[in-house]
Formats: sequence, C-alpha cells, structure tokens
Amino acid sequence: MNTIEKHNMHVMPTYGRFDVVLEKGSGCVAVDEDKKEYIDFGSGIGVNSLGFCDDDWADAIFSQAHAVQHTSNYYYTKTSSDFAERLTTATGYQKLFFGNSGAEANECAIKLAKKYSFDKYGKQAGRNIIITLENSFHGRTIATLSATGQEVFHNYFFPFVGGFVNVKANDIADLKEKLATYENKVCAVMFECIQGEGGVIPLEKEFVNAIFSECEKRDILTICDEVQTGVGRTGKFLASENYNVKPNITTLAKGLAGGVPIGVCMADEKCCDVLSKGTHGSTFGGNPISCAGGNVVLSKVLADGFLDEVSKKGEYFKSELEKIDEVEGVDGMGLMIGIRLKTKNAAEVAKACLDEGLLVLTAKDKVRLLPPLTISKQEIDKGIKILKNILDR
Ligand SMILES: *Cc1c(COP(=O)(O)O)cnc(C)c1O
Repeated sequence: MNTIEKHNMHVMPTYGRFDVVLEKGSGCVAVDEDKKEYIDFGSGIGVNSLGFCDDDWADAIFSQAHAVQHTSNYYYTKTSSDFAERLTTATGYQKLFFGNSGAEANECAIKLAKKYSFDKYGKQAGRNIIITLENSFHGRTIATLSATGQEVFHNYFFPFVGGFVNVKANDIADLKEKLATYENKVCAVMFECIQGEGGVIPLEKEFVNAIFSECEKRDILTICDEVQTGVGRTGKFLASENYNVKPNITTLAKGLAGGVPIGVCMADEKCCDVLSKGTHGSTFGGNPISCAGGNVVLSKVLADGFLDEVSKKGEYFKSELEKIDEVEGVDGMGLMIGIRLKTKNAAEVAKACLDEGLLVLTAKDKVRLLPPLTISKQEIDKGIKILKNILDR
C-alpha cells in the first residue's frame, strides 16, 4: 500500500488533499516522493515563516530536543521564559498564555474576556457576550466555531456555544446597533484585521477605529485574532500596527514558531492578570521545543530591515500580479495576498499550479498566497511565471 492509500485507510477524511506526498524541503522549495520540485507560495498555511528547514531554526530545535523536550507546567524552562520576554517586549504586551494552536489561543482570549467582566461587574450583570464579525474565522473547537461568523460552519455540532453576536464587517452602523441592543452585556469585540479564511478581506480603517472608540467608552475588551496576520506577515510584526491600534488582547499562532505547534494569547496591563492560578491551563503549552523554534523566528523577523523587505516583496508581488490579464485585482497586505480572478476558478487554478510545480492556497473564490517571509525575488519571479502561464491559458 502506498502512502496515500495507507493514510486514507487510517486517518479520518476531514481534509480535501492533493495527491502529493511531500518528502523534504529547503527554503522556498518542496520536493515530493518522485523528486518533483515545487515553489512554495503557501508555507503550509502561513506557518513555515522561514521556509522549509531553515538551518538556524532546525539547529535550535535539535539542541532543545537534546537538552529538555518537555517539563510540564509545574516547572520553568529558560527557553520559554526567554521567548515570552522577547515576544511581549516586541509587541508591547504585558503577559501571555501559551497554548498549541490558533483555536487554543482564541479559546484563551474568549475565557479571559468573559472572566474580566465577571470579576469586575459580577455574575448577575451577565456581561458575557462577545461580538465577532460576519465572515470571520476563529478556529474549529466548539467555542471558536461558535465565534466564527460563517453560517457554513454552524452545522452538525449542535448545540453551539451561546453568547456570540455577529456584526457585518466594515459596517459601523451595525456595530453601533448591536452594541446598543446588547448594552451592558458585551464583554469583548473580536476581529481579524484581514479576514484570512474569509477571503483575504482587510478591514477598513474607519471601522477598526470605530471598534476601538466604541469599546473604550464601554470598558469592552478588544481582541485581535492575528493567528494568520501576525508575526510579520503583513509587513508589520502585528497587522494591528497597520491600523495604529493596540488591542487589549492579541492572539498569535500559525507562523510564530516556524512550523512547530504553538499558540499564544497576549494581554495588556488592563487584563493580563485576569486568568489567575487554576483558571486555565494546557499540558503542552509553552513547550520548549516550540519556543526554541519561536526564538529563531523572532530573531530573524525582528532583525533590522526584515519587515521592510516583507513589505517591498508584497508590493512587488502585487505589481507583477496586476500585470496578468486574468487578474481582476489583488487584496491583502505584505505577503498576505488574495488574487481576484476574472473568469477562472480558484480551486482549478491551484490544482493546475500544483501540476506545474507551484504550491498556492485558495480562500473563498480567490487564489491566496502566503509565501515564506524569507522568499527571494528570484523565487517570486519563478512562481509568478508559472502562475501567469496558467492564468494566460
Ligand atoms: C488558522 C486560523 C485559526 C485556527 O488556528 P488552528 O491552529 O488551526 O487552530 C484561527 N484564527 C485565524 C484567523 C486563523 O487563520
């Protein structure tokens, strides 16, 4: 039995996969079982921020695995303390909680926001509603699915968690109306600066400003889900920096440790001590191997000039893509790119790219690119050439 048959026999069929077995990779190139090479414009789904198997990253993980791989959270490790210090310093947050995925980071944010209001206003106040946006995506656990503002996800798994109210993205009137309807009942507003799974849709500046001013007035916490947009993806370390706002809570995951599981929920001085001893936890959270990977990602992404390069590469992508006839427009920021097509089907384009040796993603009806942040101009050119040939057909 080959790898694909074996997998399908023994693993639950929850994903639509391409029939490719990736065997190894280096930088922005992946290699399959038949030694066919692929330029990587997806980095997993924005996870391999330094590309495949960066030497410094792999060395740090190797060393950590030979020193101590796990301790439980009854003890401390220098690697995770160092990582927490660097990440909070870089982002201006006070403290963080360690989980292992985006959904877990958001679960933590949801619990934190509810407890913040409970502690301050009491159980009777019932101040526990969280506003999320239509077309958002926050994860696959029951609570984060309930938070996700897309009806397609609200199926099968009834009952969902109550207490989430959706507002239309970029609709300030709807935001104000829902805040009025649920006056004194809302504890947080949660949003992605650029809706990723929803189709690479950036929020408008005025809408983000409205979220912050309305929440400020009512002591409502702001939660920014930067699981996809964070860690340099948009040309700033946090996408919220593009909007000049500082949410009370920011969650990170995908690209944070360069390809090993991690998720963090970061909180500011207002709410960083809400989750007290015994109120939250995770067996694997803060795993030193993940943190060792994260330390290398932070060193590189925060190095002088790195984020400017990400922005420049993003601009270059945009200008090259816009030259293609079939491209209707390009959305996103930095290296988070959504390509609107005039006539072609995004999923079919992605399959054709794969056949021609290019890995791309889709989001709704767009072709989505989340290349490694370290991608070179040469690799961009090579990949775009493949994409252009397919779109020109
Ligand atoms: C991917 C993603 C998640 C979920 O992350 P997992 O690691 O799959 O749990 C949550 N929010 C956003 C914005 C994402 O892109």
